[in-house]
Amino acid sequence: MPDRLVVVGASLAGLRACEAARKAGFEGEVVLVGAEQHLPYDRPPLSKEFLAPASEAAATTLRTAEDLAEKGVELRLGVRATALTPSTDADRPGGTVTLEDGSGSSEELAYDALVVATGAHVRTLPDVPELAGLHYLRTLDDARAIEAALVDGARVVVIGAGFIGSEIASAGVKRGLDVTVVEADETPLRRAVGEQMGVRLAAVHDDAGTRLLRATTVARVLADADGKRVAGVELADGTTLAADLVVVGIGAAPTTDWLDGSGIELDPRDGGVVCDEHLATSVPGVYAAGDVAAWHNPLLGERQRLEHWTSAAEQGGAAGRNAVAAMSGQEGTAYATVPYFWSDWYDHRIQMVGWPRGEEVALFVDTEHPARWTALYREGDRLRGALTLNGQGVIMKFRARLMKGGDWQDAVAFAEQKTGPQVGLDQAREDR
Ligand code: FAD
Repeated sequence: MPDRLVVVGASLAGLRACEAARKAGFEGEVVLVGAEQHLPYDRPPLSKEFLAPASEAAATTLRTAEDLAEKGVELRLGVRATALTPSTDADRPGGTVTLEDGSGSSEELAYDALVVATGAHVRTLPDVPELAGLHYLRTLDDARAIEAALVDGARVVVIGAGFIGSEIASAGVKRGLDVTVVEADETPLRRAVGEQMGVRLAAVHDDAGTRLLRATTVARVLADADGKRVAGVELADGTTLAADLVVVGIGAAPTTDWLDGSGIELDPRDGGVVCDEHLATSVPGVYAAGDVAAWHNPLLGERQRLEHWTSAAEQGGAAGRNAVAAMSGQEGTAYATVPYFWSDWYDHRIQMVGWPRGEEVALFVDTEHPARWTALYREGDRLRGALTLNGQGVIMKFRARLMKGGDWQDAVAFAEQKTGPQVGLDQAREDR
């Protein structure tokens, strides 16, 4: 009997896990199970090129069915895992996963090793009925529906000024639509980039002509007289904003409902699957990767869960390799990373490496192109993170420095040389 690797979640991390297993020489069965009907596809374009004016609904498929068949990956699309039952034989890790394809019948699929790559799903507003014109964005189907609703003259309200909400706002503005973003915090993206740089990123919206309402909460989503279509939102102070399209971008939560009762430990902070530095979960033979995984990052010395493309891809590969190693009794390798993400707003690219931590943020601005800047985060004499606007040429150089421990003086000298002089944060605001 050959060994069987089952990967649950047919998106970026799951795909990379399958491919890494094959690359590592695994000759057993590889089964990739995905709840969506679509072939594995890329999500970042869904809030960018896909919504851009005159976009030809950019293709986002990552691999064709033929590619996967050639690699010996058995693809089970439109199939949801509903339970995981580990084996009770302590000498032989493995178990079964219950699968349902929507036809009413279920199947028990045995695994020798399994990778949990079920990602995340959108957080929804409580107590809001389903209405035409009210959307969330996580899947290709969501993006298609939003794209179809971004019609001439549509009044758009985006709830949440996070990265995805900001990208949707950018797409609306680029189409010449009237866009209002409602953000509960006084400073958007405070957690992702810190207070000072959150203020500076918010200014990118102001400069683009997007109305960004800070420290403002939505009390109710309003429906039309028939109660079928969205009509707008009512803010906590009673003001109403009329809208033809309301898109909610208030974050995502790890998808772990199907692991209830499996014995897999979840992080009490946000429900991610707890993993060690090898991406191994608390159940032998089960690994996790991508947005769902809360793993111990040796570079940080702490557990963290990222919702970034790069870490999902890398973790998928690492989990696939380690699952294969475990099946042949080997230990595998630890996965450590300096986090990286990007986001595209209007004609700008935002990129961040590392952690928005420390006692100081230093800002360096290109004197000829003020829309090109680098912010560095200092903790003691160490660089902890770097955030750039239109700094594609330098950002990875800071990532490399962070991987080597990040000497602060060296990072400052590099930023001065490659971006421009350091400016005070207040002065930078006045000069915008
Ligand atoms: P996901 O992509 O969430 O995939 C999980 C898959 O598992 C889904 O297909 C789901 O249907 C399936 N699944 C869930 N439960 C089950 C089950 N029980 N059984 C079977 N299948 C199941 N990151 C960046 O760094 N930069 C960006 O610019 C950027 N833009 C983004 C834009 C959008 C609109 C979105 C949604 C995300 C963006 N991201 C970006 C984040 C990035 O796309 C994610 O980090 C990445 O997709 C995570 O991959 P994943 O495979 O872990 O999970």
